[in-house]
Amino acid sequence: MTTATLTIDLTAIAANWQALDRLTQVETAAVIKANAYGLGVDKVGPALARAGARLFFVAAAEEGTLLRRALGPGPSICVFSGHMPGDADMIRAADLTPMINSVDQLLTHVEMLPGHPFGIQLDTGMNRLGMEPAEWSALRDIAIAQQPVLLMSHLACADEPDHLMNRMQLDSFNDMTEGLDIPRSLAATGGILLGDDYHFDLTRPGIGLYGGLPFVDAIPVVTLDVPVIQTRDVAPGESVGYGNAFVAHGPTRVATVAAGYADGLIRAMGAQATFTHEGRKLPVIGRVSMDMITVDVSSIAEMPEHLQLMGQHQSVDTVAGFAGTIGYEILTSLGARYDRVYLT
Ligand SMILES: *Cc1c(COP(=O)(O)O)cnc(C)c1O
Repeated sequence: MTTATLTIDLTAIAANWQALDRLTQVETAAVIKANAYGLGVDKVGPALARAGARLFFVAAAEEGTLLRRALGPGPSICVFSGHMPGDADMIRAADLTPMINSVDQLLTHVEMLPGHPFGIQLDTGMNRLGMEPAEWSALRDIAIAQQPVLLMSHLACADEPDHLMNRMQLDSFNDMTEGLDIPRSLAATGGILLGDDYHFDLTRPGIGLYGGLPFVDAIPVVTLDVPVIQTRDVAPGESVGYGNAFVAHGPTRVATVAAGYADGLIRAMGAQATFTHEGRKLPVIGRVSMDMITVDVSSIAEMPEHLQLMGQHQSVDTVAGFAGTIGYEILTSLGARYDRVYLT
């Protein structure tokens, strides 16, 4: 078999959710947009529901529809992009709760689906989604008369605890929502770690559930084992791979493993990356190809069937570091060719 094995530990995801839940006195939702950060919403959703999550967030109504199919009736499914043109049928059929982002969205929503639950997203400085303070003060009384179920905003710099932006957004969120008897939510994974002031009534962790930073205490979730297709000995002066990017200085044993940038192992990770075997680090050499990567295995005597890229010895953030990116991008890029195995 040539396909790499991506093992996804659902018990670790559940344990990470419970650990993040224990860090606050308030309700903890679960963000499972982008197919549960690439790990499979049909498996991850029910696992989180079994762990105790009653509220889920996705990016778009289409994602909400898939999640509802996996969860069945009961849990709330909130949609960050709000109520977009053409969404009304999906919102009604899958019983989704759009997070309304603008006056236009509010008008659409109350016209198309009067009485259907919604929340409101406020912009406290990130300038990405939500109503700005001036817009909100003009609309506030009208909006509140429609009984929103949640007021939420999002932090731009929560992974940097000392960043002044955190306090500024917190103050702005308090200013915009003070005195209203409506549940509030500001914190994602990073915000949970900033402390009680940021927790309000509901937190919205995503990356921490999947074993990523800034939740340093997360249990690893993903293991990626890649089959070795072939090995060869390369003599000094010989080159390996496209562009002759690697030239051997001494005798080098090279393993060609069966995954590449078409599987989300982005080309940019090239020269800095390592695979591991039983904890021993093995440098990637040459360029990452579409379906293959070449690895220097001179330091191991017997060739194993697989080399490991992610798992116990290298976290998703370690691998992200190879490519100068973040764990979020590595997870959501994980390819469709992997043989996905779920541990329950
Ligand atoms: C993605 C997202 C989250 C989850 O963020 P993490 O950093 O993955 O915990 C929460 N809220 C909003 C609005 C988001 O877009």
